[in-house]
Amino acid sequence: MRNKFIAGNWKMNTTRADTASLVRALVDGASGIQKTTIMVAPPFTNLETAGHLLQNSNIKLGAQNLYWEDKGAYTGEISAAMLKDLGCEYVIIGHSERRQHFRESNQEINRKIQVALRHGLKPVICVGESLENRERGQTLGVVEYQLRNCLAGFTPEDAEAFTVAYEPVWAIGTGRAATPANAVEVHSNIRTLLAEMFGARVAEDIRIQYGGSVTADNIESFIQEVQIDGALVGGASLKADAFLKIIQAAER
Ligand code: PEP
Repeated sequence: MRNKFIAGNWKMNTTRADTASLVRALVDGASGIQKTTIMVAPPFTNLETAGHLLQNSNIKLGAQNLYWEDKGAYTGEISAAMLKDLGCEYVIIGHSERRQHFRESNQEINRKIQVALRHGLKPVICVGESLENRERGQTLGVVEYQLRNCLAGFTPEDAEAFTVAYEPVWAIGTGRAATPANAVEVHSNIRTLLAEMFGARVAEDIRIQYGGSVTADNIESFIQEVQIDGALVGGASLKADAFLKIIQAAER
């Protein structure tokens, strides 16, 4: 049975000092959380700081990206082994900001998922349509195309490690969240597709998060839907109070 999964994507924010105070507040505030999986993904430079402070807590460490090669002459890139070495358990792959600003393709995302699995990292795989896609009625087709290509070649055993984050691009960082009904429709289609690709039993256990302007004020409306297994949170994950309220809503 799926439990709820709340993840914080800090993007390119926080110094090590900011990280330390945010993590301390989260560890303290979330100490009573038992059913919900919690993950934070600070920038690479703050993973070590966060990792130390998260030891013996119920909050998992994640990274925001990785490179698909194991090592070598890839200036500026970070490998899966480096993330494991820092204590990461999760890695966000294919975030729309990476697709948009760094031209990341579904094929590259597929390679990143492969290397994550090879090193025992659990991928949080992001998909979602643009505003133009939605206005043209292409949402379900675009999400299906992304998933079929990102997840091509993986086995049902591989898929057991997957989380899918449905993040409509037009809702990310805009303050304009999707409606729960929008998300439920897409989540249901994603689960049907996962069942076709990996079998019903495995698909039933894969958590599908909603992401896009989730706040302490709107989380209830998403989390009460059985098809929504949690949230990938950007802006609101940078404020301890707001992120803790989101976690507490998932825990209820
Ligand atoms: C995100 O970064 O994945 C995200 C959903 O951002 P925000 O919550 O700020 O929209």
